[in-house]
Amino acid sequence: VKIDPILLKNAENVIIGSIINIEDVTENVKLEKIRSDFVANVTHELKTPLTSINGFIETLKSNNEIDIETRNRFLDIIDIESNRLRRLIDDILMLSFIENNKNDKYEDVNLWETFEEVFDLTFNLAKNKNINYTYNFPSKDIYLKTNKDYIKQIFVNLIDNAIKYTPEEGSVRVLVKEDSKNIKISVKDTGIGIPDEDIPRIFERFYRVDKARSKKIGGTGLGLAILKHIVISLNGKIEVNSELNKGTEFIVIIPK
Ligand code: ADP
Repeated sequence: VKIDPILLKNAENVIIGSIINIEDVTENVKLEKIRSDFVANVTHELKTPLTSINGFIETLKSNNEIDIETRNRFLDIIDIESNRLRRLIDDILMLSFIENNKNDKYEDVNLWETFEEVFDLTFNLAKNKNINYTYNFPSKDIYLKTNKDYIKQIFVNLIDNAIKYTPEEGSVRVLVKEDSKNIKISVKDTGIGIPDEDIPRIFERFYRVDKARSKKIGGTGLGLAILKHIVISLNGKIEVNSELNKGTEFIVIIPK
């Protein structure tokens, strides 16, 4: 709590009273902490791939006798790490865009057409793991007045996770429903599931259930934070049903 006393004095400079302004700054302090934690996390997340890239470039430059196989292995690592950097930067920019967006790019967005673009992007990821990837739309004429990139991000982030966290031969199903008030987007997988105690935290920036595994799988830890911000900006909500080693369903409900 911040207390700012103001003393009231008369013409002879004698104190005749005071005004005390009491302000509850708990929320401000919390926000400031979230902000500074985020900056620290971002710095760390960006530095890790950069350090690795620098290290491998230095080794390649200073050693002429590296055999071609080792050289290619190092170049692959540099490639993977720079892609990771690019994804991190894209996600950080997306988060800041949503936070600052004044909703001035709203248009009638066709859900089916937007999903089709995402399907083309994600089809091979599922195919490479022999995942049965299916979808069901009640109509090809469902529209939402919003920013198209938002809808694309909702699909991409949920589907990308569903494929990432589902073992080979599993299944991922996208289901869209519409009623008089809402549009519901469900993405259901038969993957590793999320422990109950982690569910409230997975929407935090950089929170990962299994840090080592998630990093190896290639995530930035920002996908669900972006999703949450988008859904809040659309006045919607997110439901998560998950069972360990059985699968997970994310349902995004957006008012029309
Ligand atoms: P990441 O880039 O690490 O996937 P996200 O913000 O997209 O970051 O997700 C946060 C964490 O939530 C993931 O690291 C993972 O532990 C968990 N998670 C998200 N989606 C799923 C899913 N479909 N199945 C199991 N775990 C998931």
